[in-house]
Amino acid sequence: RRQAIALEFQNLNDQQRQAALCTEGPLLLLAGAGSGKTTVLIHRIANLMKYGRGSDSDQVPDWVTPEDLAFLEGYVRAPDPARKAEQERLCRLDPAVPWSIIAITFTNKAAGELKERLERMLGPAANDIWASTFHSACVRILRRDIDRLGFSSSFTIYDTADSERVIKDIVKDFNLDEKTFAPKTILGYISRAKDAMKLGKAYLAECEKAGDFRLVRIARVYAEYERRLREANALDFDDIILHTVRLLRDFDDVREYYQKKFRYVLIDEYQDTNNLQYQLASALAGGYRNICVVGDDDQSIYRFRGATIENILSFESQYKGARVIRLEQNYRSTRNILEASNAVIRNNEGRKGKRLWTEHEDGEKVQCYTAMNEHDEAQYVAAQILSDYSAGRGWRDHAVLYRMNAQSNQIEQAFKRNGIPYRIIGGIRFFDRAEVKDMLAYLCVVNNPGDDLRLQRIINNPPRGIGATTIERAQSIARTEGRSLWDVVSHAKQWPELQKAAPKLAQFAELIEGLRGLTGELELPAFYEELVQRTGYAAMLEQKHTVEDRTRLENVHELLSSIQNYLDNTEEEPSLAGFLDEIALYTDLDNHDPNEDCVVMMTMHSAKGLEFPVVFVVGVEEGIFPGIRAIGEPAEMEEERRLCYVAMTRAKEKLYMTCACQRMLFGRTNSNRPSRFLGEIPPEQVEKSGRLPYGERSEGEREKPARRTPVRRTYDRGFSLGGSAPAAGSGAAPDWKSPAAGAPQKAAAPAFRMGDSVQHKAFGRGLITKVTPMGGDALVEIAFDSVGTKRLMLKSAAQYMQ
Ligand code: ATP
Ligand code: MG
Repeated sequence: RRQAIALEFQNLNDQQRQAALCTEGPLLLLAGAGSGKTTVLIHRIANLMKYGRGSDSDQVPDWVTPEDLAFLEGYVRAPDPARKAEQERLCRLDPAVPWSIIAITFTNKAAGELKERLERMLGPAANDIWASTFHSACVRILRRDIDRLGFSSSFTIYDTADSERVIKDIVKDFNLDEKTFAPKTILGYISRAKDAMKLGKAYLAECEKAGDFRLVRIARVYAEYERRLREANALDFDDIILHTVRLLRDFDDVREYYQKKFRYVLIDEYQDTNNLQYQLASALAGGYRNICVVGDDDQSIYRFRGATIENILSFESQYKGARVIRLEQNYRSTRNILEASNAVIRNNEGRKGKRLWTEHEDGEKVQCYTAMNEHDEAQYVAAQILSDYSAGRGWRDHAVLYRMNAQSNQIEQAFKRNGIPYRIIGGIRFFDRAEVKDMLAYLCVVNNPGDDLRLQRIINNPPRGIGATTIERAQSIARTEGRSLWDVVSHAKQWPELQKAAPKLAQFAELIEGLRGLTGELELPAFYEELVQRTGYAAMLEQKHTVEDRTRLENVHELLSSIQNYLDNTEEEPSLAGFLDEIALYTDLDNHDPNEDCVVMMTMHSAKGLEFPVVFVVGVEEGIFPGIRAIGEPAEMEEERRLCYVAMTRAKEKLYMTCACQRMLFGRTNSNRPSRFLGEIPPEQVEKSGRLPYGERSEGEREKPARRTPVRRTYDRGFSLGGSAPAAGSGAAPDWKSPAAGAPQKAAAPAFRMGDSVQHKAFGRGLITKVTPMGGDALVEIAFDSVGTKRLMLKSAAQYMQ
């Protein structure tokens, strides 16, 4: 058995093998980027299931004969399916059953990868391992027992946009000023209160005691928010974990059930756990104490979300007798990339120092390019990728990482111009499209009619003559009488003020009831198609003939693929609620299909745990990265530096870091100095290039901004329809020819510019947040009150706007 194990894990180094094989007791695996932490986690599970407890002990049981060992050795080298049973008999001493193992990671993508790799190593048995994100594990626990906390098990999950909408309503109802009490800010407070496990009432009492006037108001909003969510039988992302922790803390039988069930608890990226996640891990592992956490204090990048490195630093004191294993060999990157990253992170003070080494070659030096402006930077990135591609690399070997999503725009345009296929992770996602959200809202309401928010979204969509006033009346009745909106809508006749609308409301209620009845009869896909027809949604889109509506209809149908996908992959009994859970938990990374050959673009935060042969880190400038908020704040600066370390260590073979002398972002042009992080890379590891090598600009140059191209000036002033196309020969946009360019111009339409508020026929009121000229047209980003931010081509959208 020992030999079989040794052979099976022969590719791991000594420390890795030790970590994979010591099965019992608390274990902290603390190691730098690319040292194989996640790899160990996977092997550890394989070991648990194949060989089980005590596989690190030196004792070979007496019943194992030399012939057995010889057989095992031969078997591991060249498995013979016919003799599998024999091999298994020999290997198994006390193997763990799959459902006694829970492995948690942060993103769905990481969880998916984990499952895939486990299945490859262990076959179908791997399906029964709970390998998931914190959130999906918690949803599973809640569906079983949440009734103890007064919710019903068909609860809905609100995403961030849903939560913001509820807060917005409350702020309005409380007559608070939306500028002083911005929904996002309030949600931040609520999230921190939840992380500290404070429910609305307790938080309010605390704020009142402290006598902070503003906080008291925020706390009141929180209390009301909590009430509305409860009434709608809805949970937001924080609630999912908070309520699970409450369940485990307050109900002994629930806690004991899971503590008995999960003999082995494993957590990846432990440095990013917040208090709630920490509590959850501690509760789950409280029985057997077989907890293995894996992390890197240098990669803790979610402090702003309440993550605390303390969880990793205090592991040894929390679990007396914990083993700590460090890994020091990096298997991911070339020596130059590794040395450069080490040199940057070394400037942080609050860290458990460690040094990574590699057996890899030096590789190419880190390329630092200083661009004139953001166009130049984008063009540089595109050019490098094109030349790499023609040298035989795939598109997918390249990743572009930036600090903020807003930075993606320029790069995206350069990719379009150069015909480079790309995919933005975290941009407008399929599930964020209005029509997809509409269909999901229908499904949510069918699943849980008490979901007020979704009900509001669809009650008159497609239009059924249920006006805003009716809805407001119904809402106010619901609020004063403490009922759900559905309750009021489905019994509208009872209230005099709803008499007029009652027949229409009844019709709507009938529609929903009818659909609810169907869920028991039809399979999900057939049910969905029926829903699309019965609600009149498809008919609405079919009537209109614009390209946009055709796309919307396609998206509505495209949701079927997601349903099918869910059916194909779910391990549980498929259900509407199960499908909705899965959709609600999609994070930014989930749209990324690793098999599609395209360059991926994402924020540095989303890149955690991933690796790519070639990585571009763009916008490495003071004020952007590190961000303006971190300058002068040592703790935040250290977090930015850790983020830089995460970004740099994603690269396996080539690392580019770029900055620009001048950059327009959020409509303003700035001249930023190159980031201090660039200066922290030792000269031996860097090769500088660009118009003006960084650090060598004179003061004069910095004060005198380079002339901007005509395109930019058009952008600054807003884009006018019916005007001339951006000046030819501007150099910035030689071939942004939209099909409409050169075609007869439409009659002059009103000019739209950033900051204008508009009225759109379909989406209602909105604010233009961005105008980007493209060929003879412009891409406008409009933040609508009703449907969130949409990006529209101005020419086709203008006919619907005033
Ligand atoms: P991060 O901190 O970025 O999450 P990590 O420590 O989890 O990184 P892994 O992703 O597990 O590191 O491994 C990094 C790379 O090194 C992977 O490509 C993995 O296949 C490879 N690797 C890990 N261990 C070994 C080994 N013993 N021999 C060869 N390659 C290895
Ligand atoms: Mg990892």
